[in-house]
Amino acid sequence: STEKQTHGFQAEVSRLLHLMIHSLYSNREIFLRELVSNASDACDKLRFQSLDNPALIGEGAEPAITLTIDKEAGTLTVADNGIGMDESDVVDNLGTIARSGTEKFLAQLSGDQKKDAQLIGQFGVGFYSAFIVADKVTVETRKAGSDKASGVRWESDGQGEFTVEGIERLQPGTAVILHLRDDARDFLDPFKIRQVINQYSDHVAFPINLLTPAEGDAEESSETLNSATALWQRPRQEVSDEEYQSFYKHISHDFQDALSWSHNKVEGALEYTSLLYLPARAPFDLYHRDANRGLKLYVQRVFIMDDAEQFLPQYLRFVKGVIDAPDLPLNVSRELLQDYGPVQKIRAALTKRVLQMLKKLSNDEEQYKAFWSQFGQVLKEGIGEDADNREAIAALLRFASTHEEEGVTRLDAYLERKPAEQESIYYLLADTPSAALNSPHLEVFRKKGIEVLLLSDPVDEWMVSYLDSYKDVKLVNAARGELDLDEAAGEAESDNPLVARLKDSLAEQVESVRATRRLVDSPSCLVLAEDQLGPQMRRMLEAAGQ
Ligand code: ADP
Ligand code: MG
Repeated sequence: STEKQTHGFQAEVSRLLHLMIHSLYSNREIFLRELVSNASDACDKLRFQSLDNPALIGEGAEPAITLTIDKEAGTLTVADNGIGMDESDVVDNLGTIARSGTEKFLAQLSGDQKKDAQLIGQFGVGFYSAFIVADKVTVETRKAGSDKASGVRWESDGQGEFTVEGIERLQPGTAVILHLRDDARDFLDPFKIRQVINQYSDHVAFPINLLTPAEGDAEESSETLNSATALWQRPRQEVSDEEYQSFYKHISHDFQDALSWSHNKVEGALEYTSLLYLPARAPFDLYHRDANRGLKLYVQRVFIMDDAEQFLPQYLRFVKGVIDAPDLPLNVSRELLQDYGPVQKIRAALTKRVLQMLKKLSNDEEQYKAFWSQFGQVLKEGIGEDADNREAIAALLRFASTHEEEGVTRLDAYLERKPAEQESIYYLLADTPSAALNSPHLEVFRKKGIEVLLLSDPVDEWMVSYLDSYKDVKLVNAARGELDLDEAAGEAESDNPLVARLKDSLAEQVESVRATRRLVDSPSCLVLAEDQLGPQMRRMLEAAGQ
């Protein structure tokens, strides 16, 4: 076996460790959720790899997670008989942050403990959370399929360096030994461990056993703390809201409850079970191109992959959940998912399902407002991306409007208010809500009492370019050329000497000058020609380098 070597943590890891130890103190118990979650991932991976290579679990032990309390040594150990790690796995996984965007993540930290704790969870720096409660962490591991001489020991006090050495290890799998800080000795209490496991990890699909060594009159004991069934395989009526919420936190690393969920078993030609969640809060990387998105994919309860993005369109990337499709081949790869017929069908069905969830959520405008403020911008992308569901998405949009200057309105509410003789839905694009409200373009609409939707999100202009009409009523830009507001367009243009003079002197700047009845208080305003790009769109294209 190799000799003991000392490595330095990547600079960002040191910074992160320091921050974590100091900012996550009030949520200390999450370390257990994170370590159990890693142990569960390791059992998932072993089960998956043994499909191709049954010899990997030749020794026959059922996958399990074992927590061991040693009061004398002051240690809590989280062990699994999962996939394990070899030396390079250990150095790569426990000494660096494999994910890109560490800097971006650190830049997001606010100093507010609660917020930062949520960020850290979402970012998935789970393993390092061990240092919140431990002043020394020892990992002993051996990769499944390797011999007992190939064990590895990793050790660190979280101060910038870690050591790695070869050891002999009888069993494959991993043990994480936490040398608890003095102020974290409450995690040596079985009662405390039970409570934390109940709260965060009850639905883990492998048994979590707690071993308590003999003490006083009490003998050594072992108990299973969780129910150890795949939650999504249980009938809906047997799963409590708390269980759904706790499972949500497990798969999302979120701290907050989900807004809502939908759990369905679809039978027939194409069988699958889905459990989809709407989070209450946007993750910090919602707009990063390389952010993780998608569902956890299982085939017959065997974990296949995280972030299977083929099951939902891009504009629903905020949805979290699990899909178990028993008819997919177990060796399915990302590439295969891409153009696998059944996947396309499931995706279409799940898309409809999510839009239904949103519709249901929107029955409660207050609750929907919370969703809209977090994810409205992303949902708008669907108007352009998903022609099949455009009308359903449009019904979910919310707009500021001249009717509702403080709040927001929906297209359906606009249509209900609209007088029968008004033929269009009017909207105005502007950079900010107040610029929209103060626009001279609104004068004639105000005068005539016509409602105008006020669009000031950067995506709005792009979005409305895909939304010609809603329920057969045209959407019309209030700032564009001709309006059908019984205005005598271009009235007496040629005879008007002022118009002629302005045309002459502004020939370089504008295409045309017209007299209008649009304006009530302002003497003049600029309008876009029918075929011209608006200012938001122009800026978006410029920003994209076009
Ligand atoms: P994440 O779980 O999001 O990948 P973590 O910081 O929790 O991030 O873990 C980092 C990596 O360390 C894991 O991806 C995995 O490769 C490895 N790892 C951690 N714990 C275990 C374990 N018990 N068994 C095998 N590998 C592990
Ligand atoms: Mg993890």
